[in-house]
Amino acid sequence: MSQETNFIAGEWVVASKATANINPSDTNDVLGEFAQGSSADVGEAVAAARAAFPRWSRSTPQERHDVLKRTGDEILARKDELGRLLSREEGKTLPEGVGEVTRAAQIFHFFAGECLRQAGDKLASVRPGVEVEVTREPIGVVGLITPWNFPIAIPAWKIAPALAYGNCVVIKPAELVPGSARALVDIIARAGVPAGVLNLVMGKGSVVGQAMLEHPGIDAISFTGSVPTGRAIAAACVAAQPMKKVQLEMGGKNPLVVLDDADLTVAVDCAVNGAFFSTGQRCTASSRIIVTEGIHNRFVDAVAERMKALVVDDALKAGTHIGPVVDAKQLEQDLSYIDIGKAEGARLVLGGERLNRATPGFYMAPALFTETTADMRLNREEIFGPVASVLRVKDYDAALAAANDTAFGLSAGICTTSLKYSSHFKRNAEAGMVMVNLPTAGVDYHVPFGGRKGSSYGSREQGRYAVEFYTTVKTSYTLP
Ligand code: NAD
Repeated sequence: MSQETNFIAGEWVVASKATANINPSDTNDVLGEFAQGSSADVGEAVAAARAAFPRWSRSTPQERHDVLKRTGDEILARKDELGRLLSREEGKTLPEGVGEVTRAAQIFHFFAGECLRQAGDKLASVRPGVEVEVTREPIGVVGLITPWNFPIAIPAWKIAPALAYGNCVVIKPAELVPGSARALVDIIARAGVPAGVLNLVMGKGSVVGQAMLEHPGIDAISFTGSVPTGRAIAAACVAAQPMKKVQLEMGGKNPLVVLDDADLTVAVDCAVNGAFFSTGQRCTASSRIIVTEGIHNRFVDAVAERMKALVVDDALKAGTHIGPVVDAKQLEQDLSYIDIGKAEGARLVLGGERLNRATPGFYMAPALFTETTADMRLNREEIFGPVASVLRVKDYDAALAAANDTAFGLSAGICTTSLKYSSHFKRNAEAGMVMVNLPTAGVDYHVPFGGRKGSSYGSREQGRYAVEFYTTVKTSYTLP
């Protein structure tokens, strides 16, 4: 069995402990033993990153471009193999895994270009003879903490801008999916990133993550994960001495509104894709489907019909639509919400039971609830599994109010053929991303990603907006 190590100061380093990486489609299949880092490993990684920073922060845009471009090229060339690894460790289907890997490559190519487009401002001063320049500089050493549900895309959309803008990095991937992050770091190392610029420490959040939060040599933390962890991270960053810059992308309870005038086929596609693809384990999943009275019954019948045709099976098997839940704990949580929904008085139309397949895995039938109300836990708490609830409302105004009646604000969708309602929804949905006749999940790689309210904190990720987090602004005054 392979022994996967941490990457510190340009070397692959054995950790004192290791843990098995298990395939959720087949728990007999172990991908390897992966390092369980310690706080001492974090100390060494930060020291290496600090030592590398003076040179990397002054490297030419061409050098950084070339590293990122070569990284994107190799990821793309190996997308099938890396997609397989990703699907094997996380459980999304092979086409979804390959799609995510392709996106990671595109992100590296985008930020390779951004290396060459870093600009500042030169202004006339309000004082005679003085010149003013506003420039951006890297922040320093950035700590990246990532979740399990996008094992390569999220590390990619944090590492690529961090490096593009001249920062050094310590990354801690989620315990459940270290393999994809390890493969990515290996590619970037071979693409020529200098020793110490990028360091990988795998392991537990409570050990490795905590050590990153406490280390004074880390200047900023970019985190994606759950709300409770995000809150604790923000508090730790503010309490740190010196304080750390922080960016949080957290949970969602994303609404998909379906109006009477919607194209039924489009609406059903959006609901089934948004709620159940990637096993519902997307922060942008459509977990609340808000449907107006006139189309409600036809819509529910059509969604149920489509759900019956969904194949839940091994993520690597051809023809699988929905892979397993990521692990036993998450499956238990998903199943507990089925009981909660029933106890709250919602009607389970179909699904929600554990499934057995040829291999031992964490399979669950996608579940659809109807007759739900806004105050049910089903509609208020992020489940993060293949569970969706339908809320019946009278009209568009009630639908918009229901869509915004949540502590979250990541993505919001509407299915309608009305320009009036789609325009109004785009303006008034309290979300960072709004989709019209598209699923709430599934976004472009070159534009900002993020939310409002309880979903996000700090500046946006991805696209040109990433520059806000990964740089700090300097204003210089000169009297020539
Ligand atoms: P999580 O919060 O349990 O863990 C996220 C990361 O934080 C992991 O690497 C974990 O090890 C680390 N961590 C845990 N405790 C820590 C601590 N005390 N100090 C430092 N680090 C710590 O989340 P998860 O279960 O891996 O991911 C699922 C969650 O992520 C869902 O809530 C989902 O909505 C969210 N998510 C959000 C986005 C987004 O962009 N908004 C994208 C994907 C996932």
